Amino acid sequence: MTHRQFNALTIDVEDYFQVAAFSKQYPKETWDLQELRVEKSTRRILSIFEKHQVKATFFTLGWVAQKCPDLIKEIVDQGHELGCHGYWHNKINEQTPQQFREDLSLAKQILEQTSGVEVCGYRAPSFSINKESSWAFDIINELGFSYSSSTYPINHDHYGTPDWPRFPYLVRDSLLEIPVSTLRLCGKNLPISGGGYFRLYPYLLSRWALRRYLLAESSPSLFYFHPWEIDPLQPRTENISAKSKFRHYLNLSKFEQRLECLLVDFNWSTMRDVYQKYL
Ligand SMILES: [Zn+2]
Repeated sequence: MTHRQFNALTIDVEDYFQVAAFSKQYPKETWDLQELRVEKSTRRILSIFEKHQVKATFFTLGWVAQKCPDLIKEIVDQGHELGCHGYWHNKINEQTPQQFREDLSLAKQILEQTSGVEVCGYRAPSFSINKESSWAFDIINELGFSYSSSTYPINHDHYGTPDWPRFPYLVRDSLLEIPVSTLRLCGKNLPISGGGYFRLYPYLLSRWALRRYLLAESSPSLFYFHPWEIDPLQPRTENISAKSKFRHYLNLSKFEQRLECLLVDFNWSTMRDVYQKYL
């Protein structure tokens, strides 16, 4: 049975050599030399969405938009929402406010010029807005974004603001923050919104968690993933920690099938549509 509530489907459009855990293996100067896989994987995602008649929000790196302008046009032409994921995929807390402003404004400009549409949503790389980097909200607001989806209220070693709000809230005058969804269970916020957790849990557990969330909460849920998660044939990165290896490569070959189940079992649309009443 499909649950009637619409939920937001989001993709962070970046390539396998741009993930934060691999930043030492692939310094930015080497990005142009790597085998580009993001274009093909994102097209694969677009064709799955077309098959299921689903619209989504693609938070895209400025770097990717510059490299693959045709892909950006396809995303928009097929009725999806284009969002911004920064230019270089730098974590906010590793930049000065000035560097962040330059990166974000460059990315927004490239995305808008390439697509011909206004980009009003932003997602920080690695959900890296927290207490120390909350100044970023001022800059996102000033640059004219109407929403951000950059916080994840869970305990995690690389990100997370477990004591921050779980539902959309006005974080600045005209800027809405839409946190990644969590399931409240036994006094804790459990991650149920995609990425590595969706590959880790058996599909039936993910489905149970999302159903339980929808029964308990009135706010829609939000799901995210990356094009490299649907690409089991991507080059294997050497000299990484066992933990990074596990997290990045776990169940890549199962992802596509699980995604299709998710698209059938729940209703999905763009951030702009799903959170319209809050914006
Ligand atoms: Zn990212």
